[in-house]
Amino acid sequence: MILIQGKGVSRGVVKGPLYFYQRTDRQIVQRVCEDLEAEKARLADAQQRSIEQLGVLAEKCREEAGDEAAVLFETHAMFVEDDDYVECIMDMLDSEQCNAEYAVQQAGEQFAAMFAAMDDAYMRARSADIRDVTTRIINNLLGIVEGGIDSDVPVILAADDLAPSETLQLDKSKILGFALQGGSGNGHTAILARTMGIPAICGMGDALKPELEGRTAYIDGETGRVILDPDNLTLQTLREKFEKQEQLKALMQTMRGQEDVTLDGRHINVYCNIGSPEDVAAVQANDGQGIGLFRSEFLYLASSDYPTEDEQFEAYKTVAAAMNGKRVIIRTLDIGADKNVGYFDLKKEENPALGVRAIRICLNRPEVFRTQLRALYRASAFGKVAIMFPMITSVWEVKECRRACEAVMKELKAEGIPFNPETEIGIMVETPASVFVAEDLAKLVDFFSVGTNDLTQYTLACDRQCNDLGKFFDPHHPAVLRALKMTADAAHKAGIWVGICGELGADLSLLPTFLAMGIDELSVSPASVLPLRAEIRKSIAQLCTLEALEC
Ligand code: PEP
Ligand code: MG
Repeated sequence: MILIQGKGVSRGVVKGPLYFYQRTDRQIVQRVCEDLEAEKARLADAQQRSIEQLGVLAEKCREEAGDEAAVLFETHAMFVEDDDYVECIMDMLDSEQCNAEYAVQQAGEQFAAMFAAMDDAYMRARSADIRDVTTRIINNLLGIVEGGIDSDVPVILAADDLAPSETLQLDKSKILGFALQGGSGNGHTAILARTMGIPAICGMGDALKPELEGRTAYIDGETGRVILDPDNLTLQTLREKFEKQEQLKALMQTMRGQEDVTLDGRHINVYCNIGSPEDVAAVQANDGQGIGLFRSEFLYLASSDYPTEDEQFEAYKTVAAAMNGKRVIIRTLDIGADKNVGYFDLKKEENPALGVRAIRICLNRPEVFRTQLRALYRASAFGKVAIMFPMITSVWEVKECRRACEAVMKELKAEGIPFNPETEIGIMVETPASVFVAEDLAKLVDFFSVGTNDLTQYTLACDRQCNDLGKFFDPHHPAVLRALKMTADAAHKAGIWVGICGELGADLSLLPTFLAMGIDELSVSPASVLPLRAEIRKSIAQLCTLEALEC
């Protein structure tokens, strides 16, 4: 038996083959090629495969999201064969006598730059499409598998670590679980695993060797263990755990359709955290009563260029419409720290968690902010959208955010574009500064949502990405819980509601504390909704105390 101990960061037991993540290294070097005909044949083959893949994607999209969405892939397929584009590649091959991937990359860059310089906003937006198509052809030339998993069967994905952008681009239907040498339970890859309801273990170090590729393994997200060739006793324990897990899932289904109310009648909103429109299916399957946090930056992370206003609008509108009148809180761009987006060209910083991130980027780059706010307000005409700003520390920031909202509403009104002028505006309370000035902030917004992941990081001076901090990163620390209480009191004093959208919201052991504080909303990963509902329904709010706040 081989047992590798790590840290469980997303619960569940699964069995499957270990597969080591193929990192797509697209460093393309120019090579001199003697046999140009052979390069052209390789190119033709890669173009053909790209067209076939795009055809499959368009079909899948048409079935799942309708004709409009499928058009994107059909347009991409047309670009692959576009006369000017192909001619540019051929010219490059002939003049440089180079390898096909280099010619495609150069031609793609030229074309993307040409589109990016156009006056018409629609044409400018096509430069991202050209980059996508170029990447696809290059991948096919290099034999790189999109999504990093070249396997016919679902696998346990092993890696040194995964950036959130890498995790987002994976084909989720092929992943049974994650096993990572590095990583941290509080980083966004672990959060994504929980959102997707996929068991995950991090911090396994060198013991997770690439030589184990292809071997059948069990992972237990609760104990943080990866096990190969289990002995009989271990196998029996794993099987029992698996059966219990399935029984519990079935039992939890009885919670669907039930109200989130305590035995003494206190109602609390149980919402979900999502990262993309695809996650709405899990919200509905688990009967989430709203979206408490849509991490909009994942749209930016999954994209190779700035998502356009229309692209964002489609994503927000899809979620708002699918939630059918239930509240959908969309957080504006929160990049920086572990969520790095190449095309933003963010400077390398000594302390990125304390640097130019989140709302600071939006306030520094009004055009980026405006594009997103326009998309958000346009989507507000299709459901109950609320807008939330991350990483707030000061009253002036909120005033500037509100001014940006007003300006966008004025524009849309002048253009005759429908939007909801009553769209709720809220902020994330996730810095100690925002806790200290919460009474002033509460006068400016409609709601607070506490980001306990960052609030813990900044209150305890503990880097959430660092896996070695162990017990020092303690979201149960009385300082964090007292900050929560101060936030809740400030909100209620101003007559606004307060929720929690950090990972702590799903911590059942703290539910009595949250009830005692009068927290109005808990936003959790979709898989946590029904267990949380079961716990709420057996609680008595009046008997809950704040003893967890004592040292
Ligand atoms: C938080 O900080 O608690 C939060 C919900 O935001 P994120 O984890 O995306 O930083
Ligand atoms: Mg945060």
